[in-house]
Amino acid sequence: MLTGRFAPSPTGPLHLGSLRTALAAWLFARKAGGEFLLRVEDLDPSRCKPIFETEQLQALRALGIDWDGPVVRQSDRLSLYAAALAKLPVYRCYCTRAELAQRPCNCRQLGGSGDRFALRFDARGTRIRFQDVLAGPQSFEVDDFIVRRADGVFSYQLAVVVDDFQQEVTQVVRGADLLDSTARQILLARTLGYPVAQFAHVPLVMGPDGKRLAKRYGASTVLEDPLPWLGASLGIETDEQPKTAADLLEGFAPDAIPEQPVSLA
Ligand code: GLU
Repeated sequence: MLTGRFAPSPTGPLHLGSLRTALAAWLFARKAGGEFLLRVEDLDPSRCKPIFETEQLQALRALGIDWDGPVVRQSDRLSLYAAALAKLPVYRCYCTRAELAQRPCNCRQLGGSGDRFALRFDARGTRIRFQDVLAGPQSFEVDDFIVRRADGVFSYQLAVVVDDFQQEVTQVVRGADLLDSTARQILLARTLGYPVAQFAHVPLVMGPDGKRLAKRYGASTVLEDPLPWLGASLGIETDEQPKTAADLLEGFAPDAIPEQPVSLA
């Protein structure tokens, strides 16, 4: 049984690009008769707010995107991340943000001192190759990335790997901006002995200025009724205007998703 998911961070309203990714993930899962899960990635207390979660879930429901089982929140699952972290090869990183802006971290060689440190995964320059359903063959040398910040917050990379395993997710559909994170996550999953999911990275939506969409492009401010645009942008043709996500299921085909980023005129 295929299990897909959408995993937004409640740091603002979902913009058109995020809604498009959510819709693509839902279509992939439902077209295959699979389950679809909703996970709220709310680990960073300085950026996440319950009001944004409420708004995001409302925006998904308005499009007809449904999910199975209760919404899972990462903030409820800290002990799972701590248990996984204990199994990883890590070292302490004492670098400040200002230092890292000037030079790479050298804590693996030089060590450091103090009681404020992040934990970095010791990747030892491992190269990861994988086949992405939409983006094709990929190859990345994984850097020593942070798995727990100096303020104690578990990193997105760690939490997402633990959750996708615990929730038995078999298909990850998300924005192409996370392609290089995927190599890190595959290496983490392998190190923890988890099976690796299938990945499909959806090309991004660019704003009228040619740059990535900012959060301020809330779907409602760009388009009152985004579903027809979203469907067409995923290569779906329909005889009638779609009113809900299910109207797009019949015409959905992963092969028809345009390979290039789409632009908002
Ligand atoms: N929470 C991440 C984000 O909103 C996405 C995580 C994922 O899909 O793996 O960018």
